[in-house]
Amino acid sequence: MRINCLSCGHKFDLGDAYDDFEGPVKCLCGAMLEIRTEDGRLKAIRLMENISRRPSRGRELGEAAA
Ligand SMILES: [Zn+2]
Repeated sequence: MRINCLSCGHKFDLGDAYDDFEGPVKCLCGAMLEIRTEDGRLKAIRLMENISRRPSRGRELGEAAA
């Protein structure tokens, strides 16, 4: 099971364990890819947002209910 990173284009081999898999995998470049495979074939691939970089909200104009 080999996939192409959508972020850097690197090809990497996930091995047989991922022939039937749905979930996130991480590339060498640090990008998180969400994939879905079935019978050794790639059904869907999507680049995930970096979850460690969440925008901090909470101080927006007009939202202070004090
Ligand atoms: Zn990559």
